[in-house]
Amino acid sequence: MRRIPGQVYVPDARGRYRPYRSLWVREGRVAGLEPGAGRGEAILPGFHDAHVHIWKIGQLLTDLLDLREVDSLEALAGLLRERDRVLPPGAWLLGRGWNEARLGGVPNRAFLDSVVPGRPVLLTRTCAHIHALNSKALALAGIGPETPSPPGGEIRHEEGLLLERAYGLVERVLPRRTVEDYRRYILAGSRYLLARGVTSALEAGADPLLLEAYRSLDQEGLLPLRVSVLAILRPDGEEVLYPLPALHRSERLVVAGVKLFADGGLSGASAAVSRPYREVGGQGVLRLKAEEILELALPAHRKGFFVATHAIGDVAIREVLAAYARLYREEPRPLRHRIEHFGLPGPKELALARSLGIWVVPQPIFLKELRENFVRYLPEVFLPWCYNLRRMEEAGLSLAFSSDAPVVREVSPVQGALAASLPLTGRGLPLMRSLFYYTRPEASGLEALRLWPGQPADLVVFSENPFTHPEEARVVRVEVDGVAVFEG
Ligand SMILES: [Zn+2]
Repeated sequence: MRRIPGQVYVPDARGRYRPYRSLWVREGRVAGLEPGAGRGEAILPGFHDAHVHIWKIGQLLTDLLDLREVDSLEALAGLLRERDRVLPPGAWLLGRGWNEARLGGVPNRAFLDSVVPGRPVLLTRTCAHIHALNSKALALAGIGPETPSPPGGEIRHEEGLLLERAYGLVERVLPRRTVEDYRRYILAGSRYLLARGVTSALEAGADPLLLEAYRSLDQEGLLPLRVSVLAILRPDGEEVLYPLPALHRSERLVVAGVKLFADGGLSGASAAVSRPYREVGGQGVLRLKAEEILELALPAHRKGFFVATHAIGDVAIREVLAAYARLYREEPRPLRHRIEHFGLPGPKELALARSLGIWVVPQPIFLKELRENFVRYLPEVFLPWCYNLRRMEEAGLSLAFSSDAPVVREVSPVQGALAASLPLTGRGLPLMRSLFYYTRPEASGLEALRLWPGQPADLVVFSENPFTHPEEARVVRVEVDGVAVFEG
């Protein structure tokens, strides 16, 4: 039996944090809590990131050019030239994380051709829904001036941009990733999350190979945190579906959900909205209508998978809600489906989401990192609704917060919770509420773990109290099953 003294904060069933002066751990589980106000380090339940791309974080940390901090086209050109020099001849130059608001312009085809003419270049925007290619990459993908945009996608020939499902055209010709690559990425991404106090996470979209990598790591006892993996049903640019995976449930790995995409993103003006975007125009790309969502979701729903659909614009959210409503009506099942992001719900959508009992999984950190894009592209009437987490709470929604990293730079739940206090208009959420919403693994089909006696000791230790000193509180130790998996 081990006693961990400090300022221990454990939420009750309604998410109100109660103070304790110590926590007892026996054989990896919480054996008891000593009531009273403690001193010193602060101990909280490990956080759950309910929508994150663990493998992509790992890939960005290892094999890709990380563009998230690049703040000018000149700086980007410098990075590209440097990478161009060290890559073997003919290899793709792959990067990820650009944002035109930060760069001061889109890295279009003319720009990329002038910097790296000799090899294919593919740079994915921070949202992962828009990709910039040079002429060499477009040629390898078989895209000429006459190539039509595929359904649910768009080719912008002049700029060399592929939007949404048009990405499938280039994905086909990219070097194949192996299970071993994926295992490397998962482990690198997991370590990164653990260092920020995240002890469980939802991998928000996996192809069969990535699933295999997760299964193998789990079998070998190598997964350092708990993960729920969403299986992708329809790969980009393809009509053929991936088969439904087998339901899987172990201590560290759950495969019980599937992922669908109904639209794009707000920051790149590709989310399906009911009023035209400012500056760039258009109303985004609706990738799936209610009818198609229903058709794709039904077999999964029947087999006991929860369905998690990416929907950001109000138009996309309405389509998904309509599909879920029919799913529950026609084949009632005790499954809680989810909407990922849920960026622009109006009052009707909030009420319907509540009455259906679904989970909604927004990303508070978007309010900080993508704020400029929102303000720039969104018609004014949308601003009070855009990622308005307080309105979502007041509507009585089941909320689970997440980072969607590496779409954003910041993964820390404390930083996300701080961003939740700053909506585009009106009042935000208090820090304590937000941190609780980062503590809801049940939204991802995992067990609710909140340091209650009998539960696994998945915890994060901060140098000081994150509720009162969020900016100073550093993660100093993280445990999963009572074993230290990070020490800072
Ligand atoms: Zn995502």
